[in-house]
Amino acid sequence: YVDSLQMEETYQLRRSYIAESCQLHYNQSPLKIMSSEGVYLIDSMGTKYLDCATRLSSVGHCHPCVVAAGRSMMQTMGAIQDFSQHESYVKALLKTLPPNFEVCLFTNSGSEANDLAVQLARNYTNRKAVVVMENSFHGSSELLTEMCPKSFRRLPAGKPNWVTVVPLPDTYRGKYIHDIYAAQKYFEDAKDAIQKGIAQGGEIACFLSEPIFMVQGMIIPPAGYLANIYSYIKSIGGLVIADEIQLGMGRCGTQFWGFQTQGAVPDILTLGKAMGNGYPLSVVITSRQIAGTLPNWAKQYRCESVAVAIGHAVLKVLDEEELVRSGLQSMEYLYQKLVQYESKFQFIGAIRKIGLIIGIEIVLSKESRKPDSSLAEKISYRLKDSSVIVANEGNMKNILVFMPPFCITMRDVDMLVDGLGRILTEIEVENSTAIFDEIFTSQPSTSTSALLGISMAPSNDMTLEEEPPSPDVTFDYAYSDEEARKEAEA
Ligand code: PMP
Repeated sequence: YVDSLQMEETYQLRRSYIAESCQLHYNQSPLKIMSSEGVYLIDSMGTKYLDCATRLSSVGHCHPCVVAAGRSMMQTMGAIQDFSQHESYVKALLKTLPPNFEVCLFTNSGSEANDLAVQLARNYTNRKAVVVMENSFHGSSELLTEMCPKSFRRLPAGKPNWVTVVPLPDTYRGKYIHDIYAAQKYFEDAKDAIQKGIAQGGEIACFLSEPIFMVQGMIIPPAGYLANIYSYIKSIGGLVIADEIQLGMGRCGTQFWGFQTQGAVPDILTLGKAMGNGYPLSVVITSRQIAGTLPNWAKQYRCESVAVAIGHAVLKVLDEEELVRSGLQSMEYLYQKLVQYESKFQFIGAIRKIGLIIGIEIVLSKESRKPDSSLAEKISYRLKDSSVIVANEGNMKNILVFMPPFCITMRDVDMLVDGLGRILTEIEVENSTAIFDEIFTSQPSTSTSALLGISMAPSNDMTLEEEPPSPDVTFDYAYSDEEARKEAEA
């Protein structure tokens, strides 16, 4: 298949026939990708982009074994449902998990898997209320839209009373920073929020969360925090659902599952995206007893034979090619290079790493820690011009997240680091020139002040929300800091 449309014609068709809400990465100047291979995406001009923003591919784009498994199934059986075909795959998948994970329910997308997981928890507990993390997103079904702060704040009705939102345990920009007791204090706050939630919306059916908060900008919970929440939820009769749509199957490094990095075991696990190397395939894994609460007529939860063949091939490749081990080496090499930039550039606030994921906080200044989303956007567009694709995450889109397929090599890393170093230096020079111009022409702007180290706002300021939170989910402290509140009171 050759797409012979020119770029302008492509965009024209897109504007005419694809709903505006379906936005693309780099919406201002989208790429037209024609093929992919390993860690690279190749556009219509033949330019190869290093894909550091994939949530879909772990083993590499168009991995030959995965392609062969899909092709062979297409040729021999085609796509069929409702007949025996999952057994050996399921056995291999369950072998990687603790024994409480006994059975699988296959689905086709992350949203479908999370939606089903919540329904199972509700059936099992015979309760309705749920607990989610601040600014989380778990999918686009109606149920999940009502449950997730990222989406319900856009609904006219806002947060339903059966949803409790727990503050994000962010130790870089949150209520407890530079605090060795942050994990415990955030946990106490979560407990308070949950108790208030129960008073308003009834007993808790489940807690749904990622083990590392990827959607919120790759926030790594302080050690012990999630383990405490898991046990607390279980102690009050709720179930714990770990959403590993972005994190599962090796992305977190030596531990195959994200929840293992937190030293806690959930009751229900959801997986998607990379489990099929991007092919639509997702799953809910849980105990026989919990899965048994789904009525027999609910037959819509299934997938087809091609997806199963692809999923099984991904698992085999991960095992046989030891991709996690080699990917970890490359990502450690990348991290070591990036930390040198952290001390060099004022606008790099922090660098976080776990497994094969690295996040860089782009800020106005190290002192203020205020997110600089326009600078983050500028960097990601310039990286694109240097043939590197990254993701901008977090509520303010100021966190650059590097999440390549596991087959990234040291050579790829060198290419990435050279390009990034050049871009960061250029930006620093541009900023200094702007400061010089402003000093001699007018009053300093916010960005100039930040670069000069003049604080325009108290540190730990969280007022830069992308959108105001809906009134019924504000935490006393979450969007302003202690100092600002005292000032306001005074
Ligand atoms: N959970 C998480 C953590 C996600 O990031 C996403 C999608 N970005 C989903 C669930 C929903 O997955 P899907 O797009 O496959 O429905």
